[in-house]
Amino acid sequence: MIILVINSGSSSLKYQVRDSATGERLANGLIERIGDSAHGGPRDHAEALDRVTQELESTLQGRSIDAVGHRVVHGGERFSEPVLVTNEIIRAIERLNPLAPLHNPANVQGIRAIADRWPSMKQVAVFDTAFHRTLPEHAWRYAVPDDLYKKFGIRRYGFHGTSFEYVTRHAAGLLGLPAQEFTGIIAHLGNGASITAVQGGRSIDTSMGFTPLEGLVMGTRSGDIDPSILLFLSREGYTEKDLDRLLNRESGLVGLTGHNDMRSVEESGDAGTVALDIASYRLAKYIGGYHVAVGGAQALVFTAGIGENSWRFRERVVNRLSALGIFIDDAENQKPGGSPREISTEESAFPVLVVPTDEEAAIAEATAAVVDSA
Ligand code: AMP
Repeated sequence: MIILVINSGSSSLKYQVRDSATGERLANGLIERIGDSAHGGPRDHAEALDRVTQELESTLQGRSIDAVGHRVVHGGERFSEPVLVTNEIIRAIERLNPLAPLHNPANVQGIRAIADRWPSMKQVAVFDTAFHRTLPEHAWRYAVPDDLYKKFGIRRYGFHGTSFEYVTRHAAGLLGLPAQEFTGIIAHLGNGASITAVQGGRSIDTSMGFTPLEGLVMGTRSGDIDPSILLFLSREGYTEKDLDRLLNRESGLVGLTGHNDMRSVEESGDAGTVALDIASYRLAKYIGGYHVAVGGAQALVFTAGIGENSWRFRERVVNRLSALGIFIDDAENQKPGGSPREISTEESAFPVLVVPTDEEAAIAEATAAVVDSA
């Protein structure tokens, strides 16, 4: 099946066309500045889609799209797997808008733009939170008054689920196991970063929580901090907007070094070293905790931009894990490579793997599977 994969943001729309059977990427592109027609951007998501269609006409050469798969950030407590989009599903995604005010409305705009243009097109919503619907209550509950959960849905949801599900399958494949027998720890280290404890193929804990701000040190996000810092700063006159900007866009690696790109951080001298120490130490603590959570991991897996490409960062992290008895082979670790591979030594207590993620391929596969079974 030929699948158009859409990742629709408030002011941008990323797309890829994939052959779901072979995984082949037939086209990809990015439409930016949606809503900014003064600077040449499309007026809205419908007009952005006009541009996508124009771009696709030349690349698809007469082949047509069979279905559209959308990345939807928040599936709340309802969605534990990808679903065929109906009007009722659109309303359900909209009801989750308060939980992801920047993302879900934009995702729905993308879905509506397709429905208006191609009313009979099958569309599938693939949720970033869905893989974490298996979290046990002790992992998803915050120790706050129950009312906050009942009234506002304040709990841990977890994100990057499409990537974790995909990497679980591919890491299991590398170990010669079916996905449901994979027990291990997966670190998705991109500009946004999170780590998941997988037991028997299911997510049992993950570092992002109510929003993608909790957990690891990220490119521009702080990850875990003492929440009282927010109270302190609000008493000092910081507004809600200031705090949002501070923690989501000006913290993490960029806050510590002035750079959010790992390659620049690695080259930024002493400040870079301190930032990498903080980030790798935080990550190592999570890995130790998740090793306990899963009852002994069979594998530690690195994925996403940093996890796949920065051998220096992988080395820093694994060097902190000698208490777990895991070791990497320097030559294997430093080899570039785009396919799943093992980088640990023979003596390592369990394998350390690098498994490239591919969220678009995962969305295309999921979309084809849902449409097939509908
Ligand atoms: P992602 O969000 O998965 O695209 O990952 C983006 C992050 O991966 C950025 O911090 C990049 O600096 C980092 N990255 C990509 N390639 C490399 C590389 N060769 N070495 C170190 N970091 C890299």
